[in-house]
Amino acid sequence: MDLIIKGGRVVDPANGLDGVADVLILDGRIARVERGLEPPEGTPAVEAAGKVVAPGFIDLHVHLREPGEEYKETVATGTRAAAAGGFTAVVAMANTLPVNDTRAVTDYILAQARADGVVRVYPVGAVSKGLRGEELAELGELAEAGCVAYSDDGQPVMDSALLRRALEYAQAFAKPIISHAEDAHLAADGVMHEGFVSTDLGLRGIPAAAEEVMVARDIALAELTGTPIHIAHVSTAGAVRLIRDAKGRGVPVTAEVTPHHLLLTDEAVRGFDPNTKMKPPLRGKRDVEALREALADGTLDAIATDHAPHALADKEVEYDLAAFGIVGLETAVPLGLTHLVREGVLDLPAFIARLTVGPARILDLPLGTLSPGAPGDVTVLDLDRELVIDPSRFYSRSRNTPFGGWRCVGAPWMTIVGGRVVMWERVIKGGTR
Ligand SMILES: [Zn+2]
Repeated sequence: MDLIIKGGRVVDPANGLDGVADVLILDGRIARVERGLEPPEGTPAVEAAGKVVAPGFIDLHVHLREPGEEYKETVATGTRAAAAGGFTAVVAMANTLPVNDTRAVTDYILAQARADGVVRVYPVGAVSKGLRGEELAELGELAEAGCVAYSDDGQPVMDSALLRRALEYAQAFAKPIISHAEDAHLAADGVMHEGFVSTDLGLRGIPAAAEEVMVARDIALAELTGTPIHIAHVSTAGAVRLIRDAKGRGVPVTAEVTPHHLLLTDEAVRGFDPNTKMKPPLRGKRDVEALREALADGTLDAIATDHAPHALADKEVEYDLAAFGIVGLETAVPLGLTHLVREGVLDLPAFIARLTVGPARILDLPLGTLSPGAPGDVTVLDLDRELVIDPSRFYSRSRNTPFGGWRCVGAPWMTIVGGRVVMWERVIKGGTR
């Protein structure tokens, strides 16, 4: 596919680029980024003056729910939600039904992505069979089938010896392990952050230490084995301190943070909205401040949504019983542009870096850059677009978000995958459905 995107402000952190230029895509790959390009005759053109043109955004942490829970999300609906939200690639976690612990499941997900997907899908294979944390999955087979990392996400790997062995095996396949850092015994049956608010509300708490002891353990094992470990959804100031220190010592550790952990505190739970219930839970004000600072200084490498669709029936119950998790694909970019960039938490190039080159480097994906030869994946932003988040308009099959009604300024305007426009002004194009 050929395309020229003309006259936009091109922000490509991987190449230290920020200025007006044209982006030429030929045969689905980036050909040139320059001012005043003359494309081959007949090349379709997009006028992007006044818009921001960036490498395609990558979401490192998505639950597509297929196979097994298609009433919550499918590869078709999840990738449409991604395209609508400005993402050109999603990394799909292994906690499907059945679990992605064999080649057959990976093959199935990739086949669905080819048939029905509108953005790139990168599956993650399980660390342990059935996510039971007892026996290693067939890590080699999963890598061969196309998995880009291993994770039992949704569940912690509690057995440290098993995780050590997984890290040793993973090294042979040059794939990192993604850790859902939660001590299951400390978290127990907690439903929110343990602190003043949980005491006030009479809800069972999950202490910050439940995350921090596991982050410390994960860092120690990354150091022991030399295999990279990526900490998913960091939520506490203590975890940030541990990661900052480990990185300073050269330990191969990377980390991501979600928009909800950057924007909300446990105070949001006071209304008992089940859409404030997730793992890890919304933390305190000091934690949010530490996360924002760490995102800006690069201690946190990536913003990832932990898009976790749930049906109404799983959420519209009393707080104690509600499912954990919220959707994020269609809200992350408007929320980030509004509440992180406009409010000066980090500048636009840094924000874009945490959604492009940051995640690409963690998983060694050939994405996140507008370098010639890279896949022609581009996200175009309209920084002036005003909108109110309206869950009834989501492409996702699920609506579980605490951000309904939030006003934003700035949104994805166009999503381009391999030179093909898959979303323009919220309208999804292409795909077979
Ligand atoms: Zn998780």
